[in-house]
Amino acid sequence: MANNWRRSPSRILLARDVASGELLKAEVAQHLPPRGTYECLDKECAGDVNVCERPKGSGRFYFRHRALDDCENCGFHSRHDRSNRRHSVAQHLLILVLNEAIHRRQPMPILEFQVAGTTRQVMPLVNAMSVIPEWICPYTGRRADIALLDDNQKPALLIEVFHTHAVDRHKRRDLSPYWWVEIEANAIIADHEHLPVRHCGNLPYVFGPETQQRSLPGMKRTEW
Ligand SMILES: [Zn+2]
Repeated sequence: MANNWRRSPSRILLARDVASGELLKAEVAQHLPPRGTYECLDKECAGDVNVCERPKGSGRFYFRHRALDDCENCGFHSRHDRSNRRHSVAQHLLILVLNEAIHRRQPMPILEFQVAGTTRQVMPLVNAMSVIPEWICPYTGRRADIALLDDNQKPALLIEVFHTHAVDRHKRRDLSPYWWVEIEANAIIADHEHLPVRHCGNLPYVFGPETQQRSLPGMKRTEW
């Protein structure tokens, strides 16, 4: 849809402080910053962003691109774009946030599971030492969007970012030796501190048996 980004501006919560290189939340960023103070976290955009309050007087602050033309090439604004930009920017944002969390510079995001109509919040595994994109399983060749690796470079948790393609039964089978979760790209961008889990594998059944590796249509029992 042409110019869709103009009607659905994204609420960008994090940006990079150009001088220090640090990630900064909009609520603690400088208002009316000079040009070039903060940079969009979409690698291919890296646009100049400033700070706005939405709605006015609400006390809720977001980054926005200073130049509207910047938005046309920015994954944060491609909400309905099926070209993969939304997926890429969510994946990159989550990697940045997890890397900061591992090094104790940002809070560790919380995983949220819907259980019997309520939300259960869980801290992800904390034995991760590094986070990498596009991790490839050495046995199946299966690629995962994000891997949190332990100090032996083994996956502590794999994260799939859902945008247009959910984890299917073949991928579930290939991920079955690992702990994994699937999180929607739009949810990551909307709130990187609380991550609703769509599906998962090998996590305790209390976090929602319906999201586990079984009972997918067409899946053979041996593929559980
Ligand atoms: Zn941008």
